[in-house]
Amino acid sequence: MDPKERMALGRHPARELPVEERIKGFDEVVAGYDPETARMEAERCLQCKKPKCREGCPIHNDIPRFIRLLREGKIEEAYWADRETNSLPAVCSRVCPHEFQCEGHCIRAKKGEPVAIGMLERFIVDWMVANGKNLLKSCAMPKDKKVAIIGSGPAGMSAAFYLAHAGYRCTVFESLPVLGGMLSVGIPPYRLPRAVIAAEFEALKNCGVDIVTNVTIGRDKTIADLKNEGFDAVFIGVGAHASRKLNIPGEDLGGVLHGVDYLRRVNMGEDLDIGPRVVVVGGGNVAIDCARTALRTGSDKVFILYRRTKAEMPASQAEIHHLEEEGVKIEVLAAPVAIHGENGRLSRIECVRMELGEPDESGRRRPQPVEGSNFMIEADAIVPAISQDVDHTVARGIDLAMTRWGTFEVDEITQQTSVEWIFAAGDAVLGPQTVAKAVHQARMAAESIVRYFEGRDLKEGRDPDEIVVD
Ligand SMILES: Cc1cc2nc3c(=O)[nH]c(=O)nc-3n(C[C@H](O)[C@H](O)[C@H](O)COP(=O)(O)OP(=O)(O)OC[C@H]3O[C@@H](n4cnc5c(N)ncnc54)[C@H](O)[C@@H]3O)c2cc1C
Repeated sequence: MDPKERMALGRHPARELPVEERIKGFDEVVAGYDPETARMEAERCLQCKKPKCREGCPIHNDIPRFIRLLREGKIEEAYWADRETNSLPAVCSRVCPHEFQCEGHCIRAKKGEPVAIGMLERFIVDWMVANGKNLLKSCAMPKDKKVAIIGSGPAGMSAAFYLAHAGYRCTVFESLPVLGGMLSVGIPPYRLPRAVIAAEFEALKNCGVDIVTNVTIGRDKTIADLKNEGFDAVFIGVGAHASRKLNIPGEDLGGVLHGVDYLRRVNMGEDLDIGPRVVVVGGGNVAIDCARTALRTGSDKVFILYRRTKAEMPASQAEIHHLEEEGVKIEVLAAPVAIHGENGRLSRIECVRMELGEPDESGRRRPQPVEGSNFMIEADAIVPAISQDVDHTVARGIDLAMTRWGTFEVDEITQQTSVEWIFAAGDAVLGPQTVAKAVHQARMAAESIVRYFEGRDLKEGRDPDEIVVD
């Protein structure tokens, strides 16, 4: 493509690790832009007066502003412009489903490819790290109120970020030995290198946030204990870590590993080879990460079973593209109905063909089994990755209202729970969702906690458009 045409229609591609190299390990697959490519891609931004990209971003980042600063060569300023709203830019730039968010709204997409907003944001943060710049401004914490933050995922990290910058002391309590929630124990390093997460936590600690690992609130101590210890408010950001079951016969056999449990074990360093033939069930990011992880830990015949068609898969196009490039087949319109085995271990999976019926409440056509279409697949392991639920351990001993989906009930503007000094955000409220939504809800909760401490109205003047929907 000639340069002018490229400018108008096509984005600048990023370098990627060759397939044969990438499946040998967990190195990051997509490389960042070099300065010249970043500048040229930034030139493609039309600097719209009413930027649609900003509307599409759950955090409402001022995207045109950081792109303008980047193309003027003011990279550090661009970073701080982005940081104003985004507590996790290095993470969001890598894992946000940009095609459904900012880039999906970019005006360039009407005729060609959208501006590569995620890659530009990533360039800015990576440049800061490469040049040894501080990722956070130091924050004074002179105010006498203290907040207990439960969970160190994107929601907890973001709540700590905003509250520390507002001058409040925060302690993050995390049940695992590692920090980052699903960023560390869910999303594999080939999409999100661990050094990126470590840098964010280092910056938070330098900012004065206290972090305590290996403590499960609701088991080792309760929320009421935290209140007695002098915390004035509590933020719940415990995510959704309970794997949803298929509820079919044979699910208790050896060789059945549920998606987020499987990823947690691999991501925490367990040497887990689940055999050569692996069937992953599901169509979202978690399913795709399970399949690509299995490939990297020695399985060579991996495929995905999905009950709808490829067009309905909730995973991003880039992820589906990488998956297929790496040799994973997607068996669409099929679902498991039973798991068979010998001596306590699975050996075959019984499946049924599906067809799409009328749309359900989500607008997607409902899959229905085709009678008499059962078939068998020989396998060593099955990894159901169909969704996750919220674990309520954290709420032991305290009467918190729940929704009918088992998530924590909150006011949708203030993120306040049914107990006035307890706030919640992220997957614990929305069910399994995205990093950007967790970040945004945590910011709304932090604003409410500040108002609560200051004795101000929690809702006055707040924009209902800020509400994050699932
Ligand atoms: C495999 C996978 C791939 C994903 N890919 C993407 C992607 O590409 N893009 C994207 O935007 N999103 C993706 N997501 C979703 C994203 O990771 C989540 O939406 C996000 O992490 C939610 O943040 P959170 O802080 O609410 O919860 P989490 O990240 O789940 O963090 C919750 C933390 O709370 C801790 N905790 C739980 N209970 C307690 C307790 N009682 N006491 C103390 N600590 C506790 C947990 O150990 C955990 O560390 C993916 C998720 C998974 C699992």
